[in-house]
Amino acid sequence: MAEYPDSNRASADDSSKQLIEESNRCVACGLCLPHCPTYRLLQSEADSPRGRIALIHGVATKRIPLNEQFVQHLDRCLSCRACESVCPNHVAYGYLADEARKIIRIAAASQPQVRQTDAFQSRLLTTRLSAWVTQPARLERLRGWLYLLQKSGAIHLFRKVNFWNRNLVDKILRQLPPIVFPRMKTNKKRFFPPAWQAFYPATGEEKGTVGLFLGCIARITDAETLNAAIFVLNRIGYSVRIPTGQTCCGALYQHTGEPEKAAQLMRHNRAAFAGSGIRAIITTASGCGVQLTESDTGGVMVCDISKFLMDAVDWDTITIKPLAKTITVHDPCSLRHVLHDAVYPYRLLKLIPDAQVIALANNDQCCGAAGTYFIRQPALADRLLDDKIKALNQSGAQLLVTSNVGCSMHMASGLRAIGSDVEVLHPVTLLARQMGMQ
Ligand code: SF4
Ligand code: SF4
Repeated sequence: MAEYPDSNRASADDSSKQLIEESNRCVACGLCLPHCPTYRLLQSEADSPRGRIALIHGVATKRIPLNEQFVQHLDRCLSCRACESVCPNHVAYGYLADEARKIIRIAAASQPQVRQTDAFQSRLLTTRLSAWVTQPARLERLRGWLYLLQKSGAIHLFRKVNFWNRNLVDKILRQLPPIVFPRMKTNKKRFFPPAWQAFYPATGEEKGTVGLFLGCIARITDAETLNAAIFVLNRIGYSVRIPTGQTCCGALYQHTGEPEKAAQLMRHNRAAFAGSGIRAIITTASGCGVQLTESDTGGVMVCDISKFLMDAVDWDTITIKPLAKTITVHDPCSLRHVLHDAVYPYRLLKLIPDAQVIALANNDQCCGAAGTYFIRQPALADRLLDDKIKALNQSGAQLLVTSNVGCSMHMASGLRAIGSDVEVLHPVTLLARQMGMQ
């Protein structure tokens, strides 16, 4: 596994030295090339991991200029880290790409030709969007309005009206799944129920307490998964704490050249979960899981829900209803290439009697969602999505399961667009349904 230098603690000179040292570790063997989605699609060395590392080294050592081509080749990278997971020399590619984007951001402040590139401008737009979505309180207020817009059908109007940036608004709204509200202790019906409770007690014999990480977008668009996680954890004996002070994981900033802002968000999260007496911070989105795992959480373990559940209980003692369906499993890059925990969703789903659990073909290739990639590089993202939909159709599955909210929204929007009735959901949601969650 690649070791990551701590760029946030390094001075500018040390940062540059670290970057050059790390890029020097690439021996240009090319073993990563067949695993790189952009190299597969574009067949260009500059859009391969080896080519990008050579470009980063060239810019860091000032042998080549930081120009439009450099910005574009870096922007086309999905940060999927498939290259890193197969590199025999354990080159920390993710670190190199994030540092290169930081260099681009700094250069853009003084170089108009860099600032004006399409790639930089689209990144800037998504960074501004990030500033908006990384504020959970705002998003919590948005839930009810989005629900109303969806129920009334007015959301379709927003997709058609050219009031700001029609393509962008359409792209985002197209991904929006049906809005679901947080679980509540009481069955009392309310108009616009409140946000998440701070504590969900275990039912039955208590085994411990865990913290649940909500994320930013996921707390709105993937409440069904978060509800399912609470249901299953409570049912097997774990109380769930949801500190109100938690915020976005910072991944959006980390990959857009602003690691300082990502570190700032992480400080909030560390403070929110500190001293809450939890055994682990549970994540239901593997993208957030990577960012938390690679940050300082103050010594609290971070664990993907599927992995935690497999180790948490003797499943022979839990009643799970059978489901005679074919379930195809998509491996998010973050779970497969970075956390190396892709095996756990399969193990979890195999607990469901009669379920036929199979892997989606070409699971080593990114689906194209990749944070804000689907907005910034729509042509490439759509080609990657098409590959996934073809593979899914060939599998004959009725359900597509994935452990990352971004992948889930991206693939579900692609399936909706072709009128497919394949449901896309998180493994813990399926398990919770089979355990009796209403
Ligand atoms: S596999 Fe590693 S060492 Fe080989 S070209 Fe790719 S990044 Fe460089
Ligand atoms: S992170 Fe993914 S897209 Fe970027 S160079 Fe590596 S394999 Fe290619």
